[in-house]
Amino acid sequence: MRIYLDFNATAPVAPEVQDAVARAMRDDFGNPSSVHAFGQRAKATLDEARSHVAALIGGDPAEIVFTSGGTESDNLSIRGAFEAARTSGRRRLVTSGIEHEAVLNTVKALTAHGAEVVTVPAGRDGIVDVDAMAAAVTPETALVSVMLANNEVGTIQPVQRIADICHQHGAWLHTDAVQAAGKIPVSVRALGVDLLAMSAHKFSGPKGIGALWIRRGVRLMSQATGGRQERNRRGGTENVPAIAGMGVAARLAREALDRDALSATARLRDRLERGILETIEGTAVNGAPDRRVPNTTNISFDGIEAESLLIALDLEGIAVSTGSACSSGTLEPSHVLRAMGLPQAFARNSLRFSLGSTTTDQEIDLVLTVMPALVTKLRRLGRTAAALR
Ligand code: PLP
Repeated sequence: MRIYLDFNATAPVAPEVQDAVARAMRDDFGNPSSVHAFGQRAKATLDEARSHVAALIGGDPAEIVFTSGGTESDNLSIRGAFEAARTSGRRRLVTSGIEHEAVLNTVKALTAHGAEVVTVPAGRDGIVDVDAMAAAVTPETALVSVMLANNEVGTIQPVQRIADICHQHGAWLHTDAVQAAGKIPVSVRALGVDLLAMSAHKFSGPKGIGALWIRRGVRLMSQATGGRQERNRRGGTENVPAIAGMGVAARLAREALDRDALSATARLRDRLERGILETIEGTAVNGAPDRRVPNTTNISFDGIEAESLLIALDLEGIAVSTGSACSSGTLEPSHVLRAMGLPQAFARNSLRFSLGSTTTDQEIDLVLTVMPALVTKLRRLGRTAAALR
């Protein structure tokens, strides 16, 4: 049996989504910008998907721009807002150290174009320091970018409070909600954000498709200049089949949230976490346990190189992650755990378990059976290697 506990990297595509993609590819091949019936049929598919995606986050369909995923949504938001703010002289970008690389590398790239970047730390609980944020946001700030839920430890950020700080200074707030949409109820109005990024493959939609919600009145410079698609905010013929799939995934995600289906995932996550902490010595949970998305736990294992444990688990058929998928495969310590002020050793010995709608009790039982012996073996090997050095 193979056990997949890496839903934050990507979630398996729901059967209804697969059907919607295949149907759109077969039946809705017209160009949605064409006036004839073929085009209008494809446009109707886009409109329906746009409504479902908007409903998932409490926005208006007209405020949704389809993109190629979370990375592009973050780029469009940050680059587009920075460029649009040029005329006002606002050149400061404020973000947090626990953001995804899609945000961190984008603000870094903008320093070459005159951006002054301020990176605010998080506490050991994995929550961005709001006081430090209040000190960093000034009348020169164009945009603040703070994620809604962290991809590695799952902590939910105080975005609403940060929105108030931003608006006192006339700055816009972008939130990367890639790991929040579909996992917790999200309302753009309640959060008070100006821009919100999503990615379909994190909630059982297709890969390579995402959306940016742009509050009405927020003006961004388009980053893909071309035709007038997506209300002039992203040129290029829309990926109709992927968008149809994202629409269905958004509808399914909202229905699951409405019937509180994720409390079952939280129960499994808590059982897994408790089981590991109780049966394996020298383990600790990273990130505030009471302020997390329901599917994620990040656990450190004293005296273990997380990559070795990941590989040992994979050989047992269990897929987990050492942090964000983009940096796994390298032995770089997690920048998220470092930004939380955890010692270097923690940043190297922590594993992320992320569950999903298909995770079962039987799978959790199996993981809990296998793990203690694996950890003991790796610790012994580590000690032997150290003695030989
Ligand atoms: N932002 C966060 C928080 C993520 O976890 C990810 C993906 O891991 C991304 C952005 C990038 O999304 P995509 O893979 O759709 O480009």
